[in-house]
Amino acid sequence: MTQKTALITGITGQDGAYLARSLVDKGYRVVGAVRRSSTLNLPRLVSLEVAQEVELKTLDMQDFTSIVRLIEEVGPDEIYNLGGQSSVQASFQQPLYTGETSGMGCLRLMEAVKLVLPEARLFEASSSEIFGLKGSGVVNESQDFHPRSPYGVAKLFAYWAVVNYREAYGLHVSNGIMFNHESPLRGMEFVTRKITATLAQIASGGQQTLMLGNLDNARDWGFAGDYVEAMWAMLQQPEADNYVVATGKTHTVKQFVELAAKAVGLDIEFEGEGLEAKGIDRKTGRQMIGVSKSFYRPSEPDPMVGDASKAKEKLNWEPSVDFEALVTMMAQSDLERAGKEQAWY
Ligand code: GDP
Repeated sequence: MTQKTALITGITGQDGAYLARSLVDKGYRVVGAVRRSSTLNLPRLVSLEVAQEVELKTLDMQDFTSIVRLIEEVGPDEIYNLGGQSSVQASFQQPLYTGETSGMGCLRLMEAVKLVLPEARLFEASSSEIFGLKGSGVVNESQDFHPRSPYGVAKLFAYWAVVNYREAYGLHVSNGIMFNHESPLRGMEFVTRKITATLAQIASGGQQTLMLGNLDNARDWGFAGDYVEAMWAMLQQPEADNYVVATGKTHTVKQFVELAAKAVGLDIEFEGEGLEAKGIDRKTGRQMIGVSKSFYRPSEPDPMVGDASKAKEKLNWEPSVDFEALVTMMAQSDLERAGKEQAWY
């Protein structure tokens, strides 16, 4: 059997690293597209010991010609579109950049594939953020959409572009509607990693206070290492489709904090509600956690939980890491890093 080639945009991100590791283990030649910048951001690939096993090429998702050239040069069998601005919070500050990279970026990629290599299979990292206000309760692939952030709006554009390129041109391109997925490699701009990294530093003697936004918000949080397997499985199907990828369980930010605190050995008691909520160290009485309005968002999706039964049935995919194991994994990894002179990514 000839070796397959996979092209991953956004290979330096959390999912890019897990996916690269998994595809190399499956025997793929992996080519990663990275943004041109003065320093290469490789610590995630290094930490999964895959940096030496992938080829890196520069790519600007805003430059159509460079996408066409890269696809011609690499000739991928499979393309995983994980690139683009991925933070909901940041999308309120950078709505246009988010639209260009996370929305239009997908369309440019598909248009290039259509012109140059229409037999290639594509995965688009879609998001539960597309459901937004329509996502109350348990949601599956037939749910309506009403995004509540510039990020969600960009991802919904990409979602429909994928469906259209499938119907109009027969491209094998699938939307993975990914609910939140985390890991020790998650960026600090996301609440989970912000919590585990800061609490680990506090547990190691740091004097800072962990300042958060709304503690009552809930998410369906899974493990990124599981979610990249669903991405791969979608591209092995005879037909492309849309799939929800989720755990089916939600927890609040506060529950995440409580579990993470326990995992790093802190004994925290919460008092007050909303903006007045405080997390106090039971041993010393010091306030370790506070709430700041600056971390609240202009709009939030409804609380929702993903129904991944289609992925289970068609892809034979199920999450293997539950909430407690995920929080513990992240907290322990950050505890090991705390105090070490190591890159914090
Ligand atoms: P998202 O679901 O992709 O937006 O992932 P995030 O990890 O950025 O946010 C998850 C939830 O945590 C959202 O409802 C946020 O409003 C909430 N949240 C509360 N405090 C914070 C914070 O300090 N930072 C971030 N990023 N989110 C926070």
